[in-house]
Amino acid sequence: MDSPSHSSVIIIGAGISGISAGKVLAENGIEDMLILEASDRIGGRIRKENFGGVSVELGAGWVAGVGGKEPNPVWELASQSGLRTCFSDYSNARYNIYDRSGKIFPSGVAADSYKKAVDSAIEKLRSLEANLDSEVTEQPRSPKTPIELAIDFILHDFEMAEVEPISTYVDFGEREFLVADDRGYEHLLYKMAEDFLFTSEGKILDNRLKLNKMQSHLAVAVEID
Ligand SMILES: Cc1cc2nc3c(=O)[nH]c(=O)nc-3n(C[C@H](O)[C@H](O)[C@H](O)COP(=O)(O)OP(=O)(O)OC[C@H]3O[C@@H](n4cnc5c(N)ncnc54)[C@H](O)[C@@H]3O)c2cc1C
Repeated sequence: MDSPSHSSVIIIGAGISGISAGKVLAENGIEDMLILEASDRIGGRIRKENFGGVSVELGAGWVAGVGGKEPNPVWELASQSGLRTCFSDYSNARYNIYDRSGKIFPSGVAADSYKKAVDSAIEKLRSLEANLDSEVTEQPRSPKTPIELAIDFILHDFEMAEVEPISTYVDFGEREFLVADDRGYEHLLYKMAEDFLFTSEGKILDNRLKLNKMQSHLAVAVEID
């Protein structure tokens, strides 16, 4: 489809949110949209790389939240698209942290460091509460060295970005499935895109999708009848 001279909607970013938004708009009769994507591909944090002849997911790898009271739309799409997945209970998953010499950093040491950091943060909070009037000058210590950053990521950011209860698990269920498909998790995005963008041989050729276009300033024009 040619790039429209006037677009009712501009979608910024062609990750799963942007592509889903475009699909929903198209299903509701709004076709004159423009999708601006800063990078040279769709998918955002869903991306794969070829590594030694196999597909390796660099971003999202699991469909989380399956088997609950409400159907998970990502799981439904995965099923419709025939995406290969395996039930995952993490019993055979292994996380390793390596030091700079390439040796595995013992997970017990990592867990101890984490516990010490949490204990010290709690201690500081308690003392802050106890001395509300006194000025606290010392800032909580944030991770700085590569090993501290790795520990902080794997033990904290990776798991705890969302506070409990996590709505994904409450609504959609607690089961998780690892995507094990050569086409990658991103295959779902191409399947979604096929529904409303012009594609040929797995490539998106629709001028309403603009890759390498970063939206830096947003001007919104509202028409009032
Ligand atoms: C390492 C890792 C592992 C993960 N594992 C899982 C998992 O197992 N299961 C799971 O469900 N989720 C997982 N996630 C989270 C999941 O990948 C994200 O929640 C999801 O992909 C976010 O999609 P999005 O479209 O909202 O944002 P994004 O994927 O970040 O897409 C945003 C897009 O907008 C573009 N963009 C940003 N700013 C602009 C601009 N100004 N102009 C134009 N374009 C712009 C970006 O280039 C990008 O393509 C993981 C994430 C990471 C990083």
